[in-house]
Amino acid sequence: MAEVLKGKLVADHIKERIRANIERLSKENLFPTLAIVRLGSNPGDISYEKSIIKNCDSVGIKSKVIEKDENITTEELSNLIEELNEDNSISGILVFRPLPKHIDEEVIRNKISPMKDVDCMHPLNLERIFEGDMSGFAPCTPKAAMEVLKYYKIPIEGKNVAVVNRSMVVGKPLAMMLLKDNATVTVCHSRTKDLHEVTNKADIVVVALGKAKFFDEKYFNEKSVVIDVGVSLDENGKISGDVDYDKVEPIVDKITPVPGGVGSVTTSILLNQVVLACEKSKDR
Ligand code: NAP
Repeated sequence: MAEVLKGKLVADHIKERIRANIERLSKENLFPTLAIVRLGSNPGDISYEKSIIKNCDSVGIKSKVIEKDENITTEELSNLIEELNEDNSISGILVFRPLPKHIDEEVIRNKISPMKDVDCMHPLNLERIFEGDMSGFAPCTPKAAMEVLKYYKIPIEGKNVAVVNRSMVVGKPLAMMLLKDNATVTVCHSRTKDLHEVTNKADIVVVALGKAKFFDEKYFNEKSVVIDVGVSLDENGKISGDVDYDKVEPIVDKITPVPGGVGSVTTSILLNQVVLACEKSKDR
């Protein structure tokens, strides 16, 4: 039986820190406020938005939703972001992604003020991560995976870590964060040969494919620490990770569940970055 690495404990720990920081900032008349920009009314976005607002309320962060038609032009969206950049009552800006296909994402990423970029969209903030500077905004999902490892005191230095994902939102920034902490990182993807041999040699395996129950027991061994970032629906329409949990949990050392693992930490990372953005507003 594996040790189950539950996300809630990690999220609660981060939220405690956030509450203390908000109290300190309120004494300086600074009130962290998140602007959420949603285009259209995709049910997934609305449910994510509700969860963010609830989480903001629970720690004392103000939130403001700006809903726009999904047919908004790149120029109109860019102007809206400019207004939010200049609005001193807004600490951080979150633009829901993926953006509609007709929007030029490059323009939007470059428009958002790097000081308010709580979802790490701006190339400057991503560049910092790639330079090994982890003091600014980070993409929330890989940062959440790192926080899980740290909270459960899983050693990273000198360990072999296999990351199965090479996207800019998960795999690549995560590889940089792990390197910063002196892991030896192997980044895998759809063209990796004999993936099970790579994952079996690793001490820690992070998977983020978005393919329910893809990884069975052949990918792991009794010492494996398994961090499952994938979220998708299984054959019965139930939320599932990339790992076939029932088969893998009995044979590995540690594992994150889905739901209730990395995903439950992601929003707390976002909230923490809103507080950080509020701190940064002192330098503006
Ligand atoms: P993505 O851009 O589609 O990336 C998927 C990655 O998996 C790619 O690098 C792809 O390789 C690789 N891959 C696909 N099939 C493979 C295979 N058979 N063997 C090895 N590698 C394979 O997706 P994403 O945006 O990074 O998200 C990935 C997953 O993370 C999704 O399930 C998403 O829901 C989840 N996610 C979770 C959170 C959270 O908070 N928990 C947040 C964001 C995303 P190629 O590069 O070769 O195509």
